[in-house]
Amino acid sequence: MTGREPPATAPSGDPVLVVACREFVELVTEHLEGTLSPHLEQAIASHLELCDPCVEYLDQMRGTVGLLRTLPTESLPPVTRNQLLAVFQRLHGMPSPPT
Ligand SMILES: [Zn+2]
Repeated sequence: MTGREPPATAPSGDPVLVVACREFVELVTEHLEGTLSPHLEQAIASHLELCDPCVEYLDQMRGTVGLLRTLPTESLPPVTRNQLLAVFQRLHGMPSPPT
């Protein structure tokens, strides 16, 4: 973890409904699988309205998760997850965190 998000996408609405970019990364696979609660789905929808990089990230995830659906595992392999995190961080202009 490298600290707080930059204020570039500061929400103007109810902060409870708006997830941070890093939370979005954690939730995106469940979002694509449709396993999130309605509250979290709304939070993600609100975030995507505010955050173009996360929209792009979601597009990348859609392609990857679509491929992974053919595999008998429900979770992303660590390598794939790291690759997607790298995409996410590049889109957001953030450095890679230590792992
Ligand atoms: Zn975001």
